[in-house]
Amino acid sequence: MFLSESSSDEPLSVSDLKQFVYCPRIPYFMHILGFRERVTECMKEGVESEDRLVRLEERRRKLAKKLNVNGKLFNVSLYSERLGLFGLVDCVVVHGSEASPVEFKSSSKPKKVSENHLIQLVAYALLLESCMKKVSKKGYIIYEKHDELLEVSITEGLKRYTIKKIDEMKRVIAEEVFPETKQPASKCVSCGYRKLCQPYIPKSLYSFAGVYKAPRRTDTSEGAAE
Ligand code: SF4
Repeated sequence: MFLSESSSDEPLSVSDLKQFVYCPRIPYFMHILGFRERVTECMKEGVESEDRLVRLEERRRKLAKKLNVNGKLFNVSLYSERLGLFGLVDCVVVHGSEASPVEFKSSSKPKKVSENHLIQLVAYALLLESCMKKVSKKGYIIYEKHDELLEVSITEGLKRYTIKKIDEMKRVIAEEVFPETKQPASKCVSCGYRKLCQPYIPKSLYSFAGVYKAPRRTDTSEGAAE
């Protein structure tokens, strides 16, 4: 299924936005320098999960029954010229004048939803409002490991914050500004861009680092991600 407002030149994806919120350097590496992420062990697991997608599909449809609403659409492509954003949402729940995004995560439910997953959900809500002309007040994340459901209120404040993040991401790419950032070592150690971003730091050192402040780099021609 594909829902669209109209066409545009180079929109960015919700996945780019999710990465940007995880670390603002990632879309810079992808869109300005043209590097693609080195496949890490974590990602290999993700790819294997992708291979199981067909079998997961049926399970997801069963899990979606947790949402006691009839109108569900699966794997919906969305695009908004106004937002300059596109994405593929796992499921959409339609009830009356409202449409809610549903995302599936393979993990168990965290104590607190991560910011990048939250912004991803809100971005889908914004796309649904733009494409389907419906209101999006709620979103859902289904954590597949233990079949847990999280309901998220999509507030006006969250929508404004997400639009701000979209604008920030576009500015980084349009102005080609290498972002200053401060990320926990736990993020950097599993990041597919680590060898490009921090080529002089051996992986073993990360276990001793609490917080790593990524240095400013003007020459990024070395240490390309594998
Ligand atoms: S290695 Fe760390 S600072 Fe560099 S892109 Fe990855 S998460 Fe960001």
